[in-house]
Amino acid sequence: MNESPENWNLETLLVHTGEHQVPQDVAQQGMPTTLPIYATATFLHADADALDAAFEPTPPDEPPVYSYARHGNPTVVGLERAVAAAEGGKGAVAFGSGMAALHAALLAAGLAPGETVIAANNLYGATTNLLLKVFAPMGVNVVLRDVTDTAATCQAIEQEQPTVILLETVSNPLLQICDLPALAAAARKVGAVTVVDSTFTTPIVLRPLEHGIDIVVHSATKYLGGHGDALGGIAVANSGFHLDALSGYVRMLGGVLSPFEARLISRGLKTLALRMERHCENAAAIAEWLAQDARVSRVHYPGLPAHPQHELAGCLLRDHRYGGVVSFEIRDADRAVVHRFMDALRLCLCGTSLGDVYSLLSYSALSSHRTLTPAQRAEQGISDGLVRLSVGIEHASDIIADLDQALAACQAGA
Ligand SMILES: *Cc1c(COP(=O)(O)O)cnc(C)c1O
Repeated sequence: MNESPENWNLETLLVHTGEHQVPQDVAQQGMPTTLPIYATATFLHADADALDAAFEPTPPDEPPVYSYARHGNPTVVGLERAVAAAEGGKGAVAFGSGMAALHAALLAAGLAPGETVIAANNLYGATTNLLLKVFAPMGVNVVLRDVTDTAATCQAIEQEQPTVILLETVSNPLLQICDLPALAAAARKVGAVTVVDSTFTTPIVLRPLEHGIDIVVHSATKYLGGHGDALGGIAVANSGFHLDALSGYVRMLGGVLSPFEARLISRGLKTLALRMERHCENAAAIAEWLAQDARVSRVHYPGLPAHPQHELAGCLLRDHRYGGVVSFEIRDADRAVVHRFMDALRLCLCGTSLGDVYSLLSYSALSSHRTLTPAQRAEQGISDGLVRLSVGIEHASDIIADLDQALAACQAGA
């Protein structure tokens, strides 16, 4: 590549100078410690033959060759490799959001008109909408089930012979857990592909591929990024076949992750293990404190013996870590009381997300389950007094003190 010939004019120099530092110079210049943000849409090659070759898929054991950023970007590939390694998968594909990752994962798993998906009936709201408002009208048979009933779900898998099974490791906001190994085995028997959203657990708490799952999906917006500053998603495949399908769909659907967000999420990943340890320790301490408080009528946390799947959680979740999210019901609280509770909080932020370093409180009736009627919510076990706390990495006693004063304030104000 000829850079800046002397006869170029200023306009031309401004456009072209300084950009094309060829990679072989890197060894002499000093290798950057962290992967640079490759803010580039296309990649240039030495000659037309090399450009021609760059459009061919690279063999898996050779370093990737880039042509166009929708087909791959080094900053994004750096993140994909780290998450694939953390999940123990064959490879990963990053997306612009968790929902884009779920969409592509369902397609990669083979969901198409005339096929059946068995999915949990307590999925993240947007995921349920994806199934009911995008896939069902295309002719996909969507079967929603209580997947915490293992025997009945295994029986349904045998009867319905689904193409895809879609589960979450821990549900929102009641933090229910399904028997992943048993459901994965039942799926395998009928040749169904299993897709699991592991956003709430991360590879620190659970590695679904080890339990026979085919594709793991994350909203990287949550724990993987961890700082509330980037939106992203990622899907990890256990086989080359599903990895190729995911790569194909991200190129066609175009929901790629930007290299800027990829860099933020890669930076987040470096402290994921440390953060998850603190999230889980804090959440356990807060769940115990809430459970003994008379102003709280019910606490949902898989680490508490009273949780309906506590024993299963103990077997499935790694190192007795039960996650960083705690849900609880303020005793006899209606919407007005919960609003007063939220307004009284000083440390916990009332924000619709989870997995950040900050403690975040979300009111299900107002956010994730807003479109349901109170009766529909009650049917799912979500009362008007239920709130979800994504426990941050602050000092546990400061979070407890904040909850304590807000619980006092909301009931005093009645
Ligand atoms: C947030 C979330 C999603 C959606 O992810 P986005 O990054 O917001 O698109 C999917 N599943 C779960 C469990 C989530 O918490």
